[in-house]
Amino acid sequence: MSCVFCDVAEKKSPAKIIRETDDLVAFHDINAQAPVHILVIPKKHIPTINDAKPEDAALLGKMVLLAREIMGEQGYDWKGYRLVMNCNNDGGQTVYHLHLHALAGRWMTWPPG
Ligand code: 5GP
Ligand code: ZN
Repeated sequence: MSCVFCDVAEKKSPAKIIRETDDLVAFHDINAQAPVHILVIPKKHIPTINDAKPEDAALLGKMVLLAREIMGEQGYDWKGYRLVMNCNNDGGQTVYHLHLHALAGRWMTWPPG
């Protein structure tokens, strides 16, 4: 089955890639919701966080750490940023390949809409 983020990971679909590791890719969101809006995805296809297994724990940790690293590199560590993972319909998930949003460059409202 086709998956837009598998295509990004496999370079079948163009993306503004920021970082790539053995198991992750970080790239700019095509429809940024903040001045900086980055997505961190595992190369492995996991549809939602509900589908992550205990053996994916290290992968999930690496996603958070890579997002943190990129936010730090871009100077947002002290100023602040938001990491978000949407799950299924009510969570606002539209792409069913696990991804962590990293948003920065503006004040983030709370609670989110
Ligand atoms: P979700 O709503 O599933 O949490 O987030 C999906 C995100 O993926 C959205 O912010 C959307 O703008 C982004 N997106 C969807 N398709 C593409 C694409 O082909 N390339 C990139 N770079 N981002 C995409
Ligand atoms: Zn996928």
